[in-house]
Order: sequence, then structure tokens, then C-alpha cells
Amino acid sequence: GSIFRSNGKIFPTEFINKLKFNDILEAPIQIIYASRTHSQLSQVVKEFKSTDYNRMKITVLGSRDQLCIHPEVKSLENSSDKISVCREKIHRKACLFYRNFEISKPDIVKLPSMDIEDLVKTGIQKKFCPYFAARELKEKADIIFMPYNYLLDAKARRIHKINVRKSIVIFDEAHNIEQQCEDAASVMISSLDLAACLDDTTKVMQWMINSKSSEDSSTISTDDNEENNINTNALTITQDQISNLKLKIMKLEELLDEMKTTKGNIPSPGDVAFKWLKNAEIDFTAQGDIQQLQDINQFMTARCNYNIRHIIILLAF
Ligand code: SF4
Repeated sequence: GSIFRSNGKIFPTEFINKLKFNDILEAPIQIIYASRTHSQLSQVVKEFKSTDYNRMKITVLGSRDQLCIHPEVKSLENSSDKISVCREKIHRKACLFYRNFEISKPDIVKLPSMDIEDLVKTGIQKKFCPYFAARELKEKADIIFMPYNYLLDAKARRIHKINVRKSIVIFDEAHNIEQQCEDAASVMISSLDLAACLDDTTKVMQWMINSKSSEDSSTISTDDNEENNINTNALTITQDQISNLKLKIMKLEELLDEMKTTKGNIPSPGDVAFKWLKNAEIDFTAQGDIQQLQDINQFMTARCNYNIRHIIILLAF
């Protein structure tokens, strides 16, 4: 028998049973099945559910784009905005679905295997957050389905607590991996992006000046950037610091103009980007300018209606 086919490969019954009922190793081995897109994952899960192996526990990891059911958060266009606003809501205990998820964890782990659509439907019916439920279900799952980037990006692996050491990893259409890694580690930046970024910093300064509440305008709440692990420390960012950042972005723009060639876009190795940032005196260490931009972005997205997503371009570094 076979569990399912992928690029002509067949996984025999004995092999799968050996993984599930493994009594040699202390912890059961999990199978991680990674695909490039969510629609491919849905297709595989659909096929899987029609096999005799549907008794195995599965879960599908997705982003808030697929799994968030909070009306305000899911209506945001940008994924980074969704992350920021979601974190803020959790921090302020303002998401009913997250609160219900926390209360209902013991019932959630007993749910039958579901794909993303089923989990969202159940989350809406029972009013718990499907995004965090999928992560909870992962702990006891025999097979975890996920998009490539959850596996290839070390930060995503850490956030989702994905341990590849004791797992069987299956890449669907593995010939895409190289391109996927290349894309994940690359960033394209133009003068227009930097101009928009400058515009965003001006908006932040304007907001600080206009803000009636001196406390709100000067205090940026920070997050340690790990999912659902909110650090309630506050960081004060002054107008001087914002204008200093603006000067550095202007310097970046100037340097980018000098690098321009008549041949259009030229791919450069990663160290060129680091030199570029360094020459503009941009501090890209954990506590540096990039962190400051990230804090500003998170604060402005969560607390105000300003759209400053161009700042995120710099965070891509
Ligand atoms: S906790 Fe869940 S439902 Fe609430 S905003 Fe975050 S992802 Fe959406």
C-alpha cells in the first residue's frame, strides 16, 4: 500500500507504520510535508484524507492570512500589519478568539484532523483562534503540512518550534527549493522605495508633533519579535532619533544613486548590502536602527491608522 504519491514516489505502509509506532526512540518521529503553496498543500491534504491513513493525526500550518478570523485583523491588506495588530491585541487581551483558544486548549488537541478550511470553519463556530490552534495541534500531530518557507527560514522554524532533527522531511517538488532559498535571502530595493520610506518617517515625525498625548507620542511599546511572546518593556524614541534615522535613509538614497549603472538592475552578493548600510551608518545589530524601525512600524500599525509599510523595506535586511 502507499500513503500518497509525490513526484512518483510511493511511501509504503510498513514504512509509515514504523514511523508512527516507533518504540525504539523516545519521542515519536513526526513527518513534515512541505509544499510551495497553500493550494498545493490543500490538494495533498484532500488526497490524504481519502486514504486508509486518515486515522493519523495531521495539522496544517499557515499564516494569519489564511487562519486569522478576527474581522479587523483579517481585513488588513498587509501580512506584517496583521502580525503587528494581532500581537498588540494579544498583549492587550483584546482578541476574544485568542482568549478562547487559551481556555479551550484541552478540547482543541482532541479535534479530528482538519485542513485549513475546516479549522477556520470550526474556529468561527466555536470562537477560538485557528492560527494558534494549528500550532497547538502540531505538538501531537503525526504529519505536519506546511509551506516551504516555514521550514527553510530559521526564524520561522524557531517561531513555530519546528524540530527537523527528529523528523522525516518531505519536500514536494523539491526542484523549487533552490529558487525558494534564493528568494528568501534576497531583497530588491529601488530609489522609489527609499523615497517612500523617507515619506513614512516624515509621517511618524508629524504624528509625534501632532499627537495630543505626549505619553503615546513618545513611547513605543516593543515586542521581542518572537510570536506570542510579548515583551512589555517600553522603549522611548524621541523626535531627534527619528530625524537621525531620516538623515541615514537620505544617505542610503544618495549612495544608491552612486551605485546606479546604465545596465539597470544588477544582482549583487549580500555583503554589498551590508557595506551599503554601513556606509550610511545604519546600525543593523539587534538593538540598532533596524530594530528601531521595526518598533516604530509595529507601534504605528497597531495604534494609529498610518500606513508606513515602506519602512518594512529596510527591515528586509
Ligand atoms: S489571535 Fe488569532 S484571531 Fe486573534 S488576531 Fe491573532 S490570529 Fe487573529
